Amino acid sequence: MAQAPGCMGLLYDGALRGVHRDIIARAGGLVINKQHKGNAPVYLETLTPGRCAHELWASQGRIHEKTHYADGTTQLVPVPITKLEHRGTHTHRWYHLLRIPCRTGPHEHRVPVATTTRTGERPAGQSDEERGFHRAEHLQQIPDNTLTHQNLYGGRNDSESGNAQLDASLWNRRLISYGVPAQRLLTLGFVLAQNSTSRALHTTRTDLQLTT
Ligand SMILES: [Zn+2]
Repeated sequence: MAQAPGCMGLLYDGALRGVHRDIIARAGGLVINKQHKGNAPVYLETLTPGRCAHELWASQGRIHEKTHYADGTTQLVPVPITKLEHRGTHTHRWYHLLRIPCRTGPHEHRVPVATTTRTGERPAGQSDEERGFHRAEHLQQIPDNTLTHQNLYGGRNDSESGNAQLDASLWNRRLISYGVPAQRLLTLGFVLAQNSTSRALHTTRTDLQLTT
């Protein structure tokens, strides 16, 4: 992040885990990736506003509420996230603003996400590390199976395809330049050509749509 001014974050596949996301989120970056499939749901806390009790669990990268049904079964239901909040300038913190549905009216609740607080960063005994909760692993800034994730994740496939195009554009898929400055120039030229082609195609398609 320090080496790339203006970089907003990282798009990556499921190989990126909480331990990596923690570092990027602490530096103020956003991470968009697929949640690791093997994680079991983790109990987080029970909220008791008024006469209510809402049991919150972390599952699939976000907060769920454990709902008890009349037949004795339970289900983890995703809690709506109304906002991803970013706070801080030097040390960055991230939160989900939750709107927990309830028959007495919805409850607003703020939960930290994306970083795992270490011993000493919170009052004694309250850090994630001391509580044994790997928050960065279990709660993502932009969880899977949300519209925002779906809108952004396609960018990863696009960059894979861009890399393949770059390889394919070179004779024998070999780099034709030596040294970092020359390779940077080559990449810049390729990206300019790629963007110009995309723009031209996009304009053509818009024209077609307008005439039909
Ligand atoms: Zn309630």
